[in-house]
Amino acid sequence: MTDSAAIPPPFAAGGAELIDGRAMAAAIRGELRATVEKLSENGVRPGLAVALVGEDPASAVYVGGKIKACKEIGIRSIEARLSATTTTAQLIELIDDWNADDSVDGILVQLPLPKGIDTQAVVERIAPDKDVDGFGADNLGRLAQGKPRLVACTPFGVMEMLKRWGKLHNWTPAGKRAVVVGRSITVGRPMALLLLGADATVTICHSRTADLAGAVGQAEIVVAAAGQRHLIQGEWIAQGAVVIDVGIHRGDDGKLTGDVDFAAASQRARAITPVPGGVGPMTIAMLMANTVSACRQRRGLGPVTG
Ligand code: NAD
Repeated sequence: MTDSAAIPPPFAAGGAELIDGRAMAAAIRGELRATVEKLSENGVRPGLAVALVGEDPASAVYVGGKIKACKEIGIRSIEARLSATTTTAQLIELIDDWNADDSVDGILVQLPLPKGIDTQAVVERIAPDKDVDGFGADNLGRLAQGKPRLVACTPFGVMEMLKRWGKLHNWTPAGKRAVVVGRSITVGRPMALLLLGADATVTICHSRTADLAGAVGQAEIVVAAAGQRHLIQGEWIAQGAVVIDVGIHRGDDGKLTGDVDFAAASQRARAITPVPGGVGPMTIAMLMANTVSACRQRRGLGPVTG
C-alpha cells in the first residue's frame, strides 16, 4: 500500500506546480546506478575523491550526503579529512596524487576552504578531466564556448530540472526571457551560460542591479541564487513564470528557506521549486552524473546519457 503522507503534493498552496527535486534526483540516481552496473560488467568502477578541510559543520553534512549518494550508485568514494591548519601546498600535493591515480575519475574539494588556503590555486590544480565540480577555468571556458564538458553541479541540476519538467509539459527555455539573480562562478554565471546554451534570452542580475524587481517582473524563467533569504518577493513574479530557488538559509527554528518568498511567489508562478526538496538534491545527483561522465570520457566511452 502506498503511504500517501510520503507523496509530496504536486501543487503548492498558492496554486503553482511544485517541481519536485527530490523525486527527480532519485530518478537520476536510479539511472546512474544502471549505468554504473553496466560499466562494472566491463570491469570499470567510477571513483570520486573528496577532500574536506577544517571543521565547518555544513560542509561536513554536504560531504556526508555526497558519500552516501556514491554508495547508493556504486561509485567508489575516497574521503580525505584534513585539519583546518592544512596548507595550500599540502592540499595541492594531495590533488597531485589524485590527479595521477587512474582509479580516481572525479576530484572534489569541498568549499569554502579555511582562510589561509589559496582556493583558486587549489581549484585550478585539479585535472580538468577530473574537475567534477566544473569550477576550473578549463571547464568554465568550455561552457562559455558553448561546448560544455563537466558543468558545475548546481546549475547543471537546475537545467536538468527544467528539462525534465519541460518534457512533461511540452515546454522549453528556448526563446523565453530568463533572469538569473547572482553572478557567482559556482552558480549564477554557469547558470546564465547554460540557459543561453538552451536558447533563452538571459539577463544576469547581481548586487549592483538597479531595478531587480523590474527585471524579475519581465522574466518567464527566474533562477534565484543571491544568497539572500526571501530577496525575491512574490509580487515581483510575472504571472505564469517558472521559478527556481537555489538559495538555502537555515532559520533560528532550524527550518530551511530559500531566496524566494515561496508562499507569495507560488500564487503567481506556473511552477516553482520548494526549499528544501528542490535544487539541493539535484546538486548531489549531478555530481554523481559528472563522476560517471568523467569516468566514461576518460576511458573514451563518451558522455553519460542517464
Ligand atoms: P555568492 O555569495 O557567491 O553569490 C551571490 C550572488 O548574488 C553575487 O553574485 C551577488 O552579486 C548576488 N547578490 C547578492 N545580493 C544581492 C541582491 N540584494 N540583489 C541581487 N543580487 C544579489 O553565493 P552562491 O555561492 O552563488 O550561492 C547563492 C545561494 O545559493 C546561497 O544561498 C547558497 O547557499 C545557495 N546554494 C545552494 C546550492 C544547492 O545545492 N541548493 C548550491 C550552491 C549554493
